[in-house]
Amino acid sequence: MIQPTIAKRDVTKHILKSFNIQMSKKLGQNFLIDENIVDGIVRAANISPGETVLEIGPGIGTLTQGLAEAGAKVVAVELDSRLIEVLAKTLAGYDNVRIVHGDILKVNIAEEVAAPRFKVVANLPYYITTPIIMGLLEQRLPVDTLVTMIQKEVAERMVASPGGKEYGALSVAVQYFTEPQIMFAVPPHSFIPAPAVDSAVIRCVVRDQPAVAVGDERLFFRVVKAAFSQRRKTLNNALKTMGIASERIQQALAEAQIDGGRRGETLSLGEFAAIANALLKKS
Ligand code: SAM
Repeated sequence: MIQPTIAKRDVTKHILKSFNIQMSKKLGQNFLIDENIVDGIVRAANISPGETVLEIGPGIGTLTQGLAEAGAKVVAVELDSRLIEVLAKTLAGYDNVRIVHGDILKVNIAEEVAAPRFKVVANLPYYITTPIIMGLLEQRLPVDTLVTMIQKEVAERMVASPGGKEYGALSVAVQYFTEPQIMFAVPPHSFIPAPAVDSAVIRCVVRDQPAVAVGDERLFFRVVKAAFSQRRKTLNNALKTMGIASERIQQALAEAQIDGGRRGETLSLGEFAAIANALLKKS
């Protein structure tokens, strides 16, 4: 059976009308209507036939169709119950797609995907971009690559280097686990409804080992969080919010050879790691 391409304005409108679907802003529903963008995402994911892909939020199946056509075994998790019956119809011709009805922040992903390694490919609901990406990375699922459409401004924060205003705790966390790269920007008119912000596709290749060696990951992220909690404060002051005695902080900074008069936004991942590892020794 030849399936019509869903990633077109008229096809998408027709599907929504025939199922009487009003799109939900609350669920971050902005559906792709540009097949070139779908192709670009699928290409960025570099899919080999038969490999497993977790898609988050398939909507009416627009990107899912591109992934299925590329030969991926797709497991797609959608929260909106109204779309489950739509997906059963729009993707009826593909036996390599399995739809799971659930909340991606709650489902047992390892159990649902049940593959030794997989990729994540998604046009994410923007209201929960960070919890989804960080959740996937922190759970240490066997994911090798994430290719996601997100807000352009968030993508820029993820790839930012020390020194700029975009560099923050999110940059450190994403770069700790992955090598992120912005693949291309996507304008609002590629979706219906058009979102109020620009979008971008970002590819994050998960590292075999984190970017820097830390003795205690939780302590490392506490240091990062504290350093960025008040961006204008120097490390001497900002790190006090960790509830650690000032003296110990001074000692750790000295041992890590980092000037306490610097601000968190100037520190590399290696320097954050050096502070956390020095604090660990002193505890
Ligand atoms: N993939 C489709 C596309 O590219 O046109 C739709 C993308 S739309 C930006 C985001 C999708 O995520 C919507 O279908 C929405 O219902 C779904 N969604 C929102 N919150 C979710 C959650 N917590 N778990 C799973 N899906 C969710």
